[in-house]
Amino acid sequence: MDNTNNKHNSLIRIPASEHLIDESKICSQASHVVKTLLEAGYEAYLVGGCVRDLVLGIEPKDFDIATNAHPEQICEHFDNSRLIGRRFRIVHVYFHRNNIEVSTFRAQASQSKNQSSNAGANGRILRDNTFGTIEEDAIRRDFTINALYYDTENSEVLDFCHGYEDLKARKICMIGDPSTRYREDPVRMLRALRFRAKLDLTIDDDTQKPIKSMGHLLSEIPSARLFDEVIKLFHSGYAMRCFQALDDFNLLQVLFPITQEALNHDESFSLLIHNALENTDARIRSSKSVNPAFIFAILLWRPYLQLLEQSNQQGIPYSEGAWSSGRRTVLDQSTITSIPKRFSVTICEIWKLQNRFQNKRGRKALNLMLHPRFRAAYDFMCLRARSGELDEEDCVWWTRIQTLSEQEQRKMVNQNSNKKHQRKNKQ
Ligand code: ATP
Ligand code: MG
Repeated sequence: MDNTNNKHNSLIRIPASEHLIDESKICSQASHVVKTLLEAGYEAYLVGGCVRDLVLGIEPKDFDIATNAHPEQICEHFDNSRLIGRRFRIVHVYFHRNNIEVSTFRAQASQSKNQSSNAGANGRILRDNTFGTIEEDAIRRDFTINALYYDTENSEVLDFCHGYEDLKARKICMIGDPSTRYREDPVRMLRALRFRAKLDLTIDDDTQKPIKSMGHLLSEIPSARLFDEVIKLFHSGYAMRCFQALDDFNLLQVLFPITQEALNHDESFSLLIHNALENTDARIRSSKSVNPAFIFAILLWRPYLQLLEQSNQQGIPYSEGAWSSGRRTVLDQSTITSIPKRFSVTICEIWKLQNRFQNKRGRKALNLMLHPRFRAAYDFMCLRARSGELDEEDCVWWTRIQTLSEQEQRKMVNQNSNKKHQRKNKQ
């Protein structure tokens, strides 16, 4: 890795009097793992995003630990641990509903001096599991702000890449040459945009410059990993900002080409997406559940409608056309970001149920509320109404009926049936 553009990698220690980290934000299980490794004679530090968040005064969502103990040595000290990963052998130490990731200091493959000799003949483990020093471990990380270590014994932040300074300047800077590092792993582009949105930071000029022209490299990333990264973007609590950033950096066309294509021709689709993402952000901030299927249903709605329209024109019955258009839309997107089956079925159901909200009469209307996907489909329909796609009345009616007793609900759907009769008789 070219690291020449970086300031020197000498260690800076930031004392507690300066970083002011609130140690009560460190989860007790992470402290326990660090303490156990230290007592066994190893070095062990909190590392990465959790230190970044602690410095910013934010509660970290997960804790990673870096140590000079090798994976098997780590496991020896924890009954509740498991070695995971083939390429990167890391250890998960499990606690009730929490798991702490412990990894051995690693070096970037090309810099290794002391590659482990027990690697398989295919060379895979040998290449990616190269153990290194803490300094080497720091510079293989993505951004300087993600390369801070926390020494819990001395309450000091250890900084090899001037990450502390960058964090205080609220700046995301790539370690090493940005283009080289994006080429090594294009997902770093998405990570930069996510941290910018979530932590309200700026991306350093040199770090952001290559993104627009290198975005296409994301298409080389396995679709399952891209699905995970996209979900992280949209479930960050800052989905709207992330979406805007994807658009600004020309990454939307790489990750969601059919969405981009539909947006080019349809301004109102953008309103639906904005409303839905703002809604997702609000739900996450108030700790309500969110489902990946919902976001995908929104982003792919217009491409789906276009296919459905074609199938209508071909005289294919709605029920059949809705399923086949849904499946085709999901399949198209899956070539870029895989969509696990449990979500693709939900997406298609949300879409297919949309036309049933038009029928507010009799048993059919009552039955719709019993459908397992009713709630998601109803939320989707209300967003469509708020975005001007449907009459607001539909949303008001379906919202009201859910608040009533069974008896009152029956009355409401029968009133509609009677109204229809009266209209027919007048005609
Ligand atoms: P989050 O708040 O999303 O957890 P994070 O920075 O902790 O942010 P993780 O995916 O948990 O992200 O990764 C932990 C650390 O591992 C990062 O802080 C970074 O040091 C390193 N890392 C993760 N992904 C990469 C990558 N693609 N390239 C280099 N280093 C990475
Ligand atoms: Mg993390």
